[in-house]
This record gives sequence, structure tokens and C-alpha cells, in this order.
Amino acid sequence: MDLVFFGIQGSGKGTQAKRLAEELGYYIFEAGGELRKIRESGTELGELVKKYIDNGELVPFEIIMEVVNEAVANVPDDQKILFDGIPRDEDQMMAFDKILADSGREFRCVHILLDKDDAVERIKGRAEIEGRADDADQEKVLRRMDLFFEKTMRVIEKYMAEGKVLEVDGKGSVEEIYGRIKREIGN
Ligand code: AMP
Repeated sequence: MDLVFFGIQGSGKGTQAKRLAEELGYYIFEAGGELRKIRESGTELGELVKKYIDNGELVPFEIIMEVVNEAVANVPDDQKILFDGIPRDEDQMMAFDKILADSGREFRCVHILLDKDDAVERIKGRAEIEGRADDADQEKVLRRMDLFFEKTMRVIEKYMAEGKVLEVDGKGSVEEIYGRIKREIGN
């Protein structure tokens, strides 16, 4: 069964997702990472994608869904996937559900819970360490957080109603949170 990771920017989602994927043998699909690769590709599409990423806005639906579609098509059926950063709104959710269903794949979700104030503090630390341009600008970070509450939370609530979401407390150390995730998913 595949996994879909949710968490506000700063919740540690990406770090936890990478570690879990490595330890348990998931192929990781990181939406932001895939889009950053396109941004750096030196193509016209890259220039377009750059505008959205650098402003903290969602990249257009067709672009991100094409990337997901291609990734899923290229992963063997028996290889489980960990999705990080997709779906982020209800349109993406509908398309994502269809892509997975059409490939005969099933998934459950992990939501790392963290409130906005704690998330802002964490992001400040991450911007200093990793030097991500889209984390350094406070206004853009807040924009991405607003998008999470406006759009992604609706996706999570719908998956919750379908009984697909495991909730994990996102406060504490990386180790503590990792332990909670593994307990929730039963490993
Ligand atoms: P992240 O690394 O998940 O914080 O994503 C970085 C940036 O990539 C976001 O601010 C968006 O501009 C873009 N992005 C990531 N995931 C998506 C997605 N599912 N849909 C649209 N844009 C996305």
C-alpha cells in the first residue's frame, strides 16, 4: 500500500518522508523536488514553473499532474510509493485518486500535525540551514502556509472522512516524530 504524507511547511514532513522511504523501501515522489528539477532545466517550462515556486504559489494543475502521471506510470506495480506534497487541493485530489485507481494502487495518508506558530519557528531554522530561496522570504512562507490551510486541509478532511488518514503529533524531536509515524503505520 502506498503512503501520502501531509503536513504544513515546517512540520518536518519532507525529512520524515525521506527517512521512512529509505528505511522501508518506498520509492519517494516529492512534488516540490520534481518541480524544482524542472525549474532548473533551462527550458521554457522551467521558466514558467520558476515564477510559481518563487512566489509560493501552486504550479498549474496540468503541469504537476503530468509529472505525477509519468512518475506513477514508470514505477513497477509491486513497488510501493511514498507521495510527499501531492495532492495539495481538491482538483489535484480528484486527479490523483484517478491516477492511482487506474493503476490499481491503494494508499493511506499520514498527517503530521503542527500549529502555525510552531511551523513558522521551524521554517526560520530551515531557511538558515538549507538556504532555500522560497523559505527565506517570510511573506512567501506565510503564503504557502495559508494555501495549506485554505486548500490542502480540505483534501485531508475528505481523506479523513474516508478513513484513510493517520494523524501524528508533529511536536518534538525528529526521532520522536519518526517513532510515532512508525507506530501509526504499524512498523
Ligand atoms: P514544497 O517543497 O513541497 O514546499 O514545494 C515547493 C513549491 O513547489 C511549492 O511552493 C509550489 O510552488 C510547488 N509545488 C509543490 N507541490 C505542488 C503541487 N502538488 N501542486 C502545485 N505546486 C506544487
